[in-house]
Amino acid sequence: MSSLPAETANTQSAGPELMALFAQVLPYSRLFVGIAVEEYLSLLHGCVVRESKAGEVLIAPGGINRNVMLILSGSLSIHLGHYPSEPVGLVKTGESVGELSIIGHSLTSAWVVSATDCKLLIIDEERVWALIDQVPAIARNLLLILAGWINSVNRRILEQREQIDMLQEVARIDALTGLFNRRWFDESLHRFMSGRQQRPVTLILLDIDHFKRFNDAYGHPGGDQALRVLADVLKASVRPDDVAARYGGEEFAIILPETSLSAAVVVAERIRHTIMHQPIRAADGQLLPSITLSFGVAESEHSLTPEQLTERADAKLYQAKNEGRNRVCS
Ligand code: GH3
Ligand code: MG
Ligand code: MG
Repeated sequence: MSSLPAETANTQSAGPELMALFAQVLPYSRLFVGIAVEEYLSLLHGCVVRESKAGEVLIAPGGINRNVMLILSGSLSIHLGHYPSEPVGLVKTGESVGELSIIGHSLTSAWVVSATDCKLLIIDEERVWALIDQVPAIARNLLLILAGWINSVNRRILEQREQIDMLQEVARIDALTGLFNRRWFDESLHRFMSGRQQRPVTLILLDIDHFKRFNDAYGHPGGDQALRVLADVLKASVRPDDVAARYGGEEFAIILPETSLSAAVVVAERIRHTIMHQPIRAADGQLLPSITLSFGVAESEHSLTPEQLTERADAKLYQAKNEGRNRVCS
Protein backbone atom coordinates (compact mmCIF):
# COMPACT_ATOMS: atom_id res chain seq x y z
CA MET A 1 0.00 0.00 0.00
CA SER A 2 1.19 3.51 -0.72
CA SER A 3 0.33 6.61 1.23
CA LEU A 4 -1.13 9.70 -0.40
CA PRO A 5 1.03 12.77 0.34
CA ALA A 6 -0.27 15.51 2.56
CA GLU A 7 0.58 18.19 0.08
CA THR A 8 2.27 18.53 -3.21
CA ALA A 9 5.57 19.14 -1.44
CA ASN A 10 5.46 15.57 -0.27
CA THR A 11 4.98 14.00 -3.67
CA GLN A 12 8.02 11.83 -3.32
CA SER A 13 6.44 9.34 -0.94
CA ALA A 14 3.59 8.56 -3.28
CA GLY A 15 5.85 8.26 -6.27
CA PRO A 16 5.44 10.17 -9.50
CA GLU A 17 3.50 7.34 -11.07
CA LEU A 18 0.82 7.44 -8.40
CA MET A 19 0.69 11.22 -8.44
CA ALA A 20 0.14 11.12 -12.17
CA LEU A 21 -2.71 8.69 -11.59
CA PHE A 22 -4.30 11.00 -8.98
CA ALA A 23 -4.01 13.92 -11.36
CA GLN A 24 -5.52 11.87 -14.12
CA VAL A 25 -8.43 10.35 -12.18
CA LEU A 26 -9.42 12.45 -9.16
CA PRO A 27 -10.54 15.65 -10.98
CA TYR A 28 -12.86 13.54 -13.14
CA SER A 29 -14.02 11.14 -10.44
CA ARG A 30 -17.67 11.23 -9.40
CA LEU A 31 -16.70 12.33 -5.90
CA PHE A 32 -14.40 15.22 -6.82
CA VAL A 33 -15.61 16.33 -10.23
CA GLY A 34 -15.95 20.10 -10.58
CA ILE A 35 -13.89 20.79 -7.46
CA ALA A 36 -10.41 22.34 -7.47
CA VAL A 37 -7.78 19.85 -6.33
CA GLU A 38 -6.51 22.25 -3.61
CA GLU A 39 -9.91 22.11 -1.91
CA TYR A 40 -9.65 18.43 -1.05
CA LEU A 41 -6.09 17.19 -1.53
CA SER A 42 -4.95 18.07 1.98
CA LEU A 43 -7.99 16.29 3.42
CA LEU A 44 -6.86 13.11 1.71
CA HIS A 45 -3.59 13.19 3.61
CA GLY A 46 -2.83 9.75 5.04
CA CYS A 47 -5.20 7.90 2.72
CA VAL A 48 -3.73 4.68 1.39
CA VAL A 49 -3.78 3.22 -2.06
CA ARG A 50 -4.68 -0.43 -2.10
CA GLU A 51 -3.79 -2.72 -4.95
CA SER A 52 -6.11 -5.66 -5.48
CA LYS A 53 -5.89 -8.58 -7.84
CA ALA A 54 -8.68 -9.62 -10.21
CA GLY A 55 -11.10 -11.90 -8.36
CA GLU A 56 -10.28 -10.54 -4.89
CA VAL A 57 -13.36 -10.05 -2.71
CA LEU A 58 -13.22 -6.55 -1.21
CA ILE A 59 -16.61 -6.38 0.49
CA ALA A 60 -18.97 -9.20 1.50
CA PRO A 61 -22.62 -8.68 2.48
CA GLY A 62 -23.64 -8.37 6.12
CA GLY A 63 -20.35 -6.84 7.22
CA ILE A 64 -19.25 -3.47 8.45
CA ASN A 65 -17.57 -1.18 5.96
CA ARG A 66 -15.67 1.87 7.08
CA ASN A 67 -14.18 3.05 3.78
CA VAL A 68 -15.11 4.61 0.50
CA MET A 69 -13.03 2.95 -2.20
CA LEU A 70 -12.40 5.20 -5.17
CA ILE A 71 -11.16 3.33 -8.23
CA LEU A 72 -7.94 4.83 -9.58
CA SER A 73 -7.53 2.09 -12.16
CA GLY A 74 -9.39 -1.09 -13.06
CA SER A 75 -12.99 -1.99 -12.29
CA LEU A 76 -15.06 -3.72 -9.61
CA SER A 77 -18.05 -5.97 -10.01
CA ILE A 78 -21.11 -5.96 -7.75
CA HIS A 79 -22.89 -9.22 -6.92
CA LEU A 80 -26.11 -9.74 -4.98
CA GLY A 81 -27.17 -12.81 -3.05
CA HIS A 82 -24.43 -15.34 -3.37
CA TYR A 83 -20.96 -15.23 -4.87
CA PRO A 84 -19.73 -16.41 -7.32
CA SER A 85 -22.67 -15.25 -9.42
CA GLU A 86 -23.33 -13.04 -12.43
CA PRO A 87 -22.54 -9.40 -11.53
CA VAL A 88 -25.45 -6.98 -11.34
CA GLY A 89 -23.19 -4.07 -12.12
CA LEU A 90 -19.69 -2.88 -12.87
CA VAL A 91 -18.02 0.08 -11.14
CA LYS A 92 -15.34 1.71 -13.24
CA THR A 93 -12.33 3.99 -12.86
CA GLY A 94 -13.35 7.28 -11.25
CA GLU A 95 -16.36 5.71 -9.55
CA SER A 96 -16.47 4.53 -5.97
CA VAL A 97 -18.16 2.07 -3.61
CA GLY A 98 -18.92 2.06 0.10
CA GLU A 99 -20.73 5.41 0.40
CA LEU A 100 -24.10 3.90 1.27
CA SER A 101 -22.91 1.84 4.22
CA ILE A 102 -20.98 4.79 5.64
CA ILE A 103 -23.70 7.43 5.26
CA GLY A 104 -26.50 5.05 6.24
CA HIS A 105 -24.53 3.34 9.04
CA SER A 106 -25.81 0.13 7.54
CA LEU A 107 -24.31 -3.29 7.10
CA THR A 108 -22.96 -4.02 3.65
CA SER A 109 -25.54 -5.51 1.29
CA ALA A 110 -23.56 -6.76 -1.70
CA TRP A 111 -20.38 -8.45 -2.76
CA VAL A 112 -17.78 -6.13 -4.23
CA VAL A 113 -15.09 -7.96 -6.16
CA SER A 114 -12.13 -6.78 -8.23
CA ALA A 115 -13.16 -7.45 -11.82
CA THR A 116 -9.61 -6.63 -12.95
CA ASP A 117 -6.39 -5.79 -11.15
CA CYS A 118 -7.21 -2.51 -9.42
CA LYS A 119 -5.69 0.46 -7.67
CA LEU A 120 -8.08 1.82 -5.07
CA LEU A 121 -7.90 5.02 -3.08
CA ILE A 122 -9.15 4.10 0.39
CA ILE A 123 -10.91 7.02 2.09
CA ASP A 124 -11.80 6.08 5.65
CA GLU A 125 -15.07 7.08 7.32
CA GLU A 126 -13.55 9.93 9.33
CA ARG A 127 -12.08 11.50 6.21
CA VAL A 128 -15.33 11.04 4.29
CA TRP A 129 -17.16 13.08 6.96
CA ALA A 130 -14.38 15.67 7.01
CA LEU A 131 -14.67 16.03 3.24
CA ILE A 132 -18.45 16.40 3.52
CA ASP A 133 -18.19 18.94 6.34
CA GLN A 134 -15.50 21.07 4.75
CA VAL A 135 -16.25 20.96 1.03
CA PRO A 136 -19.97 21.43 0.28
CA ALA A 137 -19.43 20.52 -3.36
CA ILE A 138 -18.30 17.06 -2.22
CA ALA A 139 -21.52 16.68 -0.24
CA ARG A 140 -23.42 17.58 -3.41
CA ASN A 141 -21.41 15.06 -5.46
CA LEU A 142 -22.06 12.41 -2.83
CA LEU A 143 -25.80 13.08 -3.05
CA LEU A 144 -25.60 12.51 -6.81
CA ILE A 145 -23.63 9.29 -6.24
CA LEU A 146 -26.19 8.06 -3.69
CA ALA A 147 -29.05 8.98 -6.01
CA GLY A 148 -27.32 6.91 -8.68
CA TRP A 149 -27.16 3.91 -6.35
CA ILE A 150 -30.81 4.32 -5.36
CA ASN A 151 -31.80 4.54 -9.03
CA SER A 152 -29.91 1.40 -9.89
CA VAL A 153 -31.52 -0.44 -6.94
CA ASN A 154 -34.96 0.77 -8.06
CA ARG A 155 -34.29 -0.36 -11.61
CA ARG A 156 -33.28 -3.75 -10.29
CA ILE A 157 -36.43 -4.04 -8.15
CA LEU A 158 -38.55 -3.19 -11.21
CA GLU A 159 -36.74 -5.80 -13.30
CA GLN A 160 -37.26 -8.39 -10.58
CA ARG A 161 -40.94 -7.46 -10.32
CA GLU A 162 -41.31 -8.04 -14.06
CA GLN A 163 -39.47 -11.36 -13.73
CA ILE A 164 -41.74 -12.43 -10.87
CA ASP A 165 -44.84 -11.49 -12.91
CA MET A 166 -43.50 -13.47 -15.83
CA LEU A 167 -42.71 -16.52 -13.68
CA GLN A 168 -46.11 -16.34 -12.02
CA GLU A 169 -47.70 -16.27 -15.45
CA VAL A 170 -45.63 -19.28 -16.54
CA ALA A 171 -46.50 -21.09 -13.31
CA ARG A 172 -50.24 -20.91 -13.98
CA ILE A 173 -50.39 -21.40 -17.74
CA ASP A 174 -50.20 -24.65 -19.65
CA ALA A 175 -47.47 -24.27 -22.27
CA LEU A 176 -49.11 -26.29 -25.06
CA THR A 177 -52.60 -24.81 -24.97
CA GLY A 178 -52.19 -21.43 -23.26
CA LEU A 179 -55.05 -22.36 -20.93
CA PHE A 180 -54.69 -22.27 -17.15
CA ASN A 181 -52.95 -25.37 -15.83
CA ARG A 182 -54.08 -27.92 -13.25
CA ARG A 183 -52.44 -26.05 -10.40
CA TRP A 184 -54.32 -22.88 -11.19
CA PHE A 185 -57.53 -24.85 -11.62
CA ASP A 186 -57.16 -26.41 -8.16
CA GLU A 187 -56.36 -23.04 -6.59
CA SER A 188 -59.26 -21.32 -8.35
CA LEU A 189 -61.78 -23.98 -7.38
CA HIS A 190 -60.68 -23.75 -3.75
CA ARG A 191 -60.85 -19.98 -3.90
CA PHE A 192 -64.38 -20.04 -5.30
CA MET A 193 -65.67 -22.77 -2.98
CA SER A 194 -63.85 -22.32 0.31
CA GLY A 195 -62.63 -18.76 0.28
CA ARG A 196 -64.21 -15.90 2.21
CA GLN A 197 -65.97 -14.79 -0.96
CA GLN A 198 -67.68 -18.12 -1.50
CA ARG A 199 -69.62 -18.34 -4.75
CA PRO A 200 -71.79 -21.14 -6.10
CA VAL A 201 -70.05 -22.76 -9.05
CA THR A 202 -70.80 -25.33 -11.69
CA LEU A 203 -68.02 -27.50 -12.96
CA ILE A 204 -67.66 -28.98 -16.44
CA LEU A 205 -65.13 -31.74 -17.03
CA LEU A 206 -64.55 -32.77 -20.64
CA ASP A 207 -62.40 -35.38 -22.26
CA ILE A 208 -61.52 -36.04 -25.89
CA ASP A 209 -63.07 -39.23 -27.21
CA HIS A 210 -60.73 -41.97 -28.41
CA PHE A 211 -57.84 -39.59 -28.45
CA LYS A 212 -55.35 -42.42 -28.30
CA ARG A 213 -56.62 -43.53 -31.72
CA PHE A 214 -56.29 -39.98 -33.03
CA ASN A 215 -52.68 -39.88 -31.85
CA ASP A 216 -52.00 -43.31 -33.32
CA ALA A 217 -53.46 -42.27 -36.66
CA TYR A 218 -52.04 -38.74 -37.00
CA GLY A 219 -49.03 -38.76 -34.72
CA HIS A 220 -48.33 -36.86 -31.52
CA PRO A 221 -47.90 -33.51 -33.36
CA GLY A 222 -51.32 -34.04 -34.93
CA GLY A 223 -52.71 -34.75 -31.45
CA ASP A 224 -51.07 -31.61 -30.08
CA GLN A 225 -52.68 -29.60 -32.85
CA ALA A 226 -56.10 -31.00 -31.88
CA LEU A 227 -55.44 -29.98 -28.26
CA ARG A 228 -54.62 -26.42 -29.40
CA VAL A 229 -57.74 -26.19 -31.53
CA LEU A 230 -59.85 -27.42 -28.63
CA ALA A 231 -58.20 -24.89 -26.30
CA ASP A 232 -59.09 -22.08 -28.71
CA VAL A 233 -62.70 -23.25 -28.80
CA LEU A 234 -62.81 -23.32 -25.00
CA LYS A 235 -61.28 -19.84 -24.72
CA ALA A 236 -63.88 -18.50 -27.13
CA SER A 237 -66.74 -20.26 -25.33
CA VAL A 238 -66.29 -19.04 -21.76
CA ARG A 239 -67.00 -15.74 -20.05
CA PRO A 240 -64.17 -13.67 -18.57
CA ASP A 241 -65.19 -14.80 -15.09
CA ASP A 242 -65.00 -18.52 -15.97
CA VAL A 243 -61.82 -20.51 -15.56
CA ALA A 244 -61.00 -22.87 -18.44
CA ALA A 245 -58.06 -25.11 -17.63
CA ARG A 246 -56.17 -28.11 -18.94
CA TYR A 247 -56.94 -30.63 -16.24
CA GLY A 248 -54.37 -33.09 -17.55
CA GLY A 249 -53.54 -34.87 -20.82
CA GLU A 250 -56.62 -34.63 -23.01
CA GLU A 251 -58.95 -33.69 -20.19
CA PHE A 252 -60.13 -30.13 -19.56
CA ALA A 253 -62.18 -28.35 -16.92
CA ILE A 254 -64.28 -25.22 -16.82
CA ILE A 255 -65.33 -23.53 -13.61
CA LEU A 256 -68.45 -21.41 -14.12
CA PRO A 257 -69.19 -19.20 -11.11
CA GLU A 258 -72.81 -18.37 -10.37
CA THR A 259 -74.08 -20.53 -13.19
CA SER A 260 -76.96 -23.00 -12.89
CA LEU A 261 -76.57 -26.62 -13.90
CA SER A 262 -78.88 -26.13 -16.88
CA ALA A 263 -76.99 -23.04 -18.06
CA ALA A 264 -73.67 -24.94 -17.80
CA VAL A 265 -75.17 -27.81 -19.82
CA VAL A 266 -76.05 -25.29 -22.54
CA VAL A 267 -72.40 -24.11 -22.55
CA ALA A 268 -71.16 -27.73 -22.74
CA GLU A 269 -73.57 -28.55 -25.60
CA ARG A 270 -72.40 -25.50 -27.50
CA ILE A 271 -68.76 -26.57 -27.13
CA ARG A 272 -69.65 -30.14 -28.11
CA HIS A 273 -71.28 -28.96 -31.34
CA THR A 274 -68.56 -26.46 -32.17
CA ILE A 275 -65.70 -28.94 -31.81
CA MET A 276 -67.46 -31.58 -33.91
CA HIS A 277 -67.36 -29.21 -36.85
CA GLN A 278 -64.04 -27.58 -36.12
CA PRO A 279 -61.38 -28.34 -38.72
CA ILE A 280 -57.97 -29.36 -37.38
CA ARG A 281 -55.08 -28.52 -39.61
CA ALA A 282 -51.74 -30.26 -39.11
CA ALA A 283 -48.50 -28.27 -39.32
CA ASP A 284 -47.97 -29.53 -42.90
CA GLY A 285 -51.39 -28.20 -43.90
CA GLN A 286 -53.06 -31.60 -43.96
CA LEU A 287 -56.70 -31.47 -42.82
CA LEU A 288 -57.30 -33.93 -39.96
CA PRO A 289 -60.71 -35.23 -38.90
CA SER A 290 -62.44 -33.28 -36.17
CA ILE A 291 -62.69 -34.68 -32.65
CA THR A 292 -65.61 -35.32 -30.32
CA LEU A 293 -65.87 -34.69 -26.60
CA SER A 294 -67.63 -36.23 -23.62
CA PHE A 295 -68.76 -33.98 -20.78
CA GLY A 296 -69.63 -34.36 -17.12
CA VAL A 297 -71.34 -31.44 -15.41
CA ALA A 298 -71.96 -31.00 -11.67
CA GLU A 299 -73.17 -28.16 -9.51
CA SER A 300 -71.75 -27.18 -6.13
CA GLU A 301 -74.20 -27.59 -3.32
CA HIS A 302 -73.93 -26.43 0.22
CA SER A 303 -71.11 -28.13 2.12
CA LEU A 304 -69.63 -29.87 -0.95
CA THR A 305 -65.84 -29.73 -0.99
CA PRO A 306 -63.98 -28.92 -4.23
CA GLU A 307 -62.83 -32.55 -4.32
CA GLN A 308 -66.39 -33.84 -3.96
CA LEU A 309 -67.61 -31.53 -6.73
CA THR A 310 -64.81 -32.75 -8.99
CA GLU A 311 -65.68 -36.39 -8.19
CA ARG A 312 -69.32 -35.72 -9.14
CA ALA A 313 -68.40 -34.14 -12.45
CA ASP A 314 -65.96 -36.98 -13.10
CA ALA A 315 -68.68 -39.57 -12.42
CA LYS A 316 -70.91 -37.81 -14.95
CA LEU A 317 -68.07 -37.76 -17.46
CA TYR A 318 -67.59 -41.49 -16.92
CA GLN A 319 -71.31 -41.96 -17.56
CA ALA A 320 -71.07 -39.97 -20.81
CA LYS A 321 -68.23 -42.25 -21.94
CA ASN A 322 -70.21 -45.37 -21.03
CA GLU A 323 -73.34 -44.19 -22.77
CA GLY A 324 -71.48 -43.90 -26.07
CA ARG A 325 -69.33 -40.71 -25.87
CA ASN A 326 -69.89 -37.37 -27.67
CA ARG A 327 -72.49 -36.33 -25.14
CA VAL A 328 -73.11 -34.24 -22.03
CA CYS A 329 -74.22 -35.87 -18.76
CA SER A 330 -75.34 -33.91 -15.73
P1 GH3 B 1 -61.59 -42.17 -24.10
O1 GH3 B 1 -62.61 -41.86 -25.16
O2 GH3 B 1 -62.08 -43.30 -23.23
O3 GH3 B 1 -61.22 -41.02 -23.32
O4 GH3 B 1 -60.32 -42.75 -24.87
P2 GH3 B 1 -58.94 -42.05 -25.05
O5 GH3 B 1 -58.18 -42.78 -26.07
O6 GH3 B 1 -59.14 -40.59 -25.31
O7 GH3 B 1 -58.31 -42.17 -23.62
P3 GH3 B 1 -56.94 -42.75 -23.14
O8 GH3 B 1 -56.83 -42.34 -21.69
O9 GH3 B 1 -56.85 -44.20 -23.46
O10 GH3 B 1 -55.87 -42.01 -23.98
C1 GH3 B 1 -55.58 -40.67 -23.81
C2 GH3 B 1 -54.60 -40.27 -24.86
O11 GH3 B 1 -54.31 -38.88 -24.79
C3 GH3 B 1 -53.30 -40.99 -24.74
C4 GH3 B 1 -52.28 -39.90 -24.67
O12 GH3 B 1 -51.16 -40.18 -25.44
C5 GH3 B 1 -52.98 -38.71 -25.22
N1 GH3 B 1 -52.42 -37.48 -24.72
C6 GH3 B 1 -52.39 -37.02 -23.46
N2 GH3 B 1 -51.72 -35.84 -23.40
C7 GH3 B 1 -51.34 -35.54 -24.66
C8 GH3 B 1 -50.61 -34.46 -25.24
O13 GH3 B 1 -50.17 -33.52 -24.60
N3 GH3 B 1 -50.40 -34.51 -26.59
C9 GH3 B 1 -50.87 -35.53 -27.35
N4 GH3 B 1 -50.64 -35.50 -28.65
N5 GH3 B 1 -51.52 -36.56 -26.81
C10 GH3 B 1 -51.76 -36.57 -25.50
MG1 MG C 1 -60.04 -39.40 -23.81
MG1 MG D 1 -58.69 -39.02 -20.41
